[in-house]
Amino acid sequence: MDLVIATGNEGKFEEIAGVLADLGLRLLPFWCLSIGSLPTEDGQTFEENAARKARAAADLTGKVALADDSGLEIEALGGMPGIHSARFAGEWADDEERNRCILELLKGVPSERRGARFRCVIAIAEPGGRLYLTTGICQGMIAPSPRGDHGFGYDPIFYLPEHGGTMAELGLALKNQISHRAQALAKAKEILKSLINSRGEAPLGA
Ligand code: IMP
Repeated sequence: MDLVIATGNEGKFEEIAGVLADLGLRLLPFWCLSIGSLPTEDGQTFEENAARKARAAADLTGKVALADDSGLEIEALGGMPGIHSARFAGEWADDEERNRCILELLKGVPSERRGARFRCVIAIAEPGGRLYLTTGICQGMIAPSPRGDHGFGYDPIFYLPEHGGTMAELGLALKNQISHRAQALAKAKEILKSLINSRGEAPLGA
């Protein structure tokens, strides 16, 4: 079965492909299909944004589509940047500038008040059909300074006390076991397995 991955974020795609590898699906990155654009992420919730992206990709391609909407929620900032994570600090800011901004906003905030979580909502849409949603959360804290070269986005400033490093220091293999995305995808995999069975399409290589 083909599965369209409704994202333009290569970091997300790589993680999604890693976690779904054993399902035998052919994963089609939306940006490779040149078939239009995904809707603007102006919903009020992760669920709304993920659902819109998956639904648009499924309807444009006529194939089952999976979308991820995710972000960082910082307790001392009242849950910000949350659904605004991708554009926090301005439309043209890059990951490094966004991380610098967060660290500036948390300057002087002691470690016990630097709690944060990554949240991920996965939406799976059948063309003209049903929509499924799953969620994953990964708890950690904001590090005093960026560390590590792996991953993307806020990974260098997201510290996981139980692993003694930032998400960007842990590497993709571990991230794909513990992250918000990995947890949401683990639930999504069960839905995909039943779609593979009900659609009666053989997995690739079968
Ligand atoms: P969106 O889901 O396309 O709105 O973008 C989510 C944004 O949240 C990304 O551009 C990153 O800045 C951030 N984000 C989401 N997941 C992760 C992650 O696993 N690591 C680091 N940053 C993330």
